[in-house]
Amino acid sequence: MTKILIVEDEEKISRFLELELQHEGYEAGKAADGRTGLDMALSGDYDLMVLDIMLPELNGMEVLRRLRKTSQLPVIMLTARDAVMDKVSGLDMGANDYITKPFAIEELLARIRALLRTSVAIAPLARGAALSCGELIMNVDAHTVTYKEANIELTNKEFSLLQALLENKDIVLSRDVLLDRIWGYGYIGETNVVDVYIRYLRQKIDDVFHVKLIHTVRGIGYTIKDEKESES
Ligand code: CA
Repeated sequence: MTKILIVEDEEKISRFLELELQHEGYEAGKAADGRTGLDMALSGDYDLMVLDIMLPELNGMEVLRRLRKTSQLPVIMLTARDAVMDKVSGLDMGANDYITKPFAIEELLARIRALLRTSVAIAPLARGAALSCGELIMNVDAHTVTYKEANIELTNKEFSLLQALLENKDIVLSRDVLLDRIWGYGYIGETNVVDVYIRYLRQKIDDVFHVKLIHTVRGIGYTIKDEKESES
């Protein structure tokens, strides 16, 4: 079932949207502040987000900015009437569409349907899809990772880190992006935690199978790539 995330601090509006979306056959999730909304959006459980701009904790623009570091989740922004700046900067920052408050529910539903239709093609990762790099294969739903059919046992954090790398194969991800995504932007602790977990992954994958999949890009971050694939 298609799941839609509503990030809106005005309880009346979010409850109304929830009921309308459920009535249309969608599953709806709600967050009343930006931080919770961002966490839920990054969980990968949702197909589309309706995002208000004025929110406690993190405003909608900031939620969108952080989301777009790692996610292509379709986003419709809710903007105040005549707030032209909001519309422009929202679209600049990667919102797919916006709607002005107060809005007719039919218009929002039409935009949601339109966006879901077009976003199927750009969805970064269908649920149940396998991710791979050379002989390394991750099945996200089954939570398994294999190399040439040999099972690799990973902790949850290692799994999430590897998933982030595989979803962005051949793209360098900075430590900050990985830290935000795996440990959360509120993470307070050792700043080298990403490096530590990269080392764990290398020990369990590169070292065991005598391959070089996880690469350090000095001064930037990490990427996963199969050199045999990229050289050809
Ligand atoms: Ca609001």
